Amino acid sequence: MEENLVIEKINTPVEMPKQASPEAPGTSKQVFVPLHLHSEFSIGDGLGTVPVIIKALKVKGYDTCAISDHGGLAGCLYFQQACLEAGIKPILGIEAYVIEDEKDKESGHLVLLAKNKTGWDNLLWLNGRAATQFFHYRPRMLLKDILDHSAGLICMTACTSGLVSKKIIAGNTVGADILVSQLKMSFGEDFYVEIIFNDSVPNQKEVNQFLLQQAAEKNIKAVVTSDSHYPNKEDESIHKAIKAISMRMKYSEAGFSDKTFYYLQDKDIMELASRHSYVTPEAVKQMIANTREVADKCSFLIQKETGNLLPDMMKFLPQDAGYEAWLQRPDTHVLSKIGKVQDE
Ligand SMILES: [Zn+2]
Ligand SMILES: [Zn+2]
Repeated sequence: MEENLVIEKINTPVEMPKQASPEAPGTSKQVFVPLHLHSEFSIGDGLGTVPVIIKALKVKGYDTCAISDHGGLAGCLYFQQACLEAGIKPILGIEAYVIEDEKDKESGHLVLLAKNKTGWDNLLWLNGRAATQFFHYRPRMLLKDILDHSAGLICMTACTSGLVSKKIIAGNTVGADILVSQLKMSFGEDFYVEIIFNDSVPNQKEVNQFLLQQAAEKNIKAVVTSDSHYPNKEDESIHKAIKAISMRMKYSEAGFSDKTFYYLQDKDIMELASRHSYVTPEAVKQMIANTREVADKCSFLIQKETGNLLPDMMKFLPQDAGYEAWLQRPDTHVLSKIGKVQDE
């Protein structure tokens, strides 16, 4: 085996779509950008394959959309490619499981979105550590790691299972206050409190009100999200079914779901928010506009040269032996060469 084990790199730059626009006739372009959206890669929770998601985004008039799957980045490249083909600007991110101490049994969510290459590299590093160092049923990121590697990332407070929200709901408002300050200090203008207007999620209103108060006190902007788990309103029962299966519960017992976890349009958000008396329509419009601000900050795309690093295994096969023989007696010389290539 010669030293020609060079990984082929493709240098064609991947670029943002030039004219992202909705194609459905009669659909107006939405100001709202979904920044918190789950795909099928949120296994047992996100409903919708990437092509189905893209189709729904086009029909509803979105020109930009983020992907933020639970605890993983596996769907990002697939989502990016599908978005670019459809003329939609993709934003790549994650809804991370976060712990404050490695001994913690429970985790809480934070949404992290890549603004640029530095942010994406930080996400990869954090995600790798989550999977290898702090895995406990799920890949979990250490809060200190996130605070130390916040460069190039947007941070949002996520849902009622969020790291901040859980403290609020548990009555630990002092702890929530401190955590919000830590996140603001680390992420600066790229930290946003996340407001979700739904009808039936327990404690959502309490969380929203606390976060809005924090935002006012600490000069933090608020964004609205729909924490989308399925494309259309009528998909709610199917989402409840897959959730029940993943939680090993009967359909009738599965409590987690809400009729508002679909891809909300501007008008849906205004209507839902009207049932929350602690916010004015003007404030909600500003939260929608802030999703566009976040989207404008994000311009990262995975380049093919960084997405094509798997070695060509066929090059490692002994010339005089077949694949089956190689599988049965792994050649340590060959394996050492694989290690060498990966180190380069
Ligand atoms: Zn969440
Ligand atoms: Zn979520």
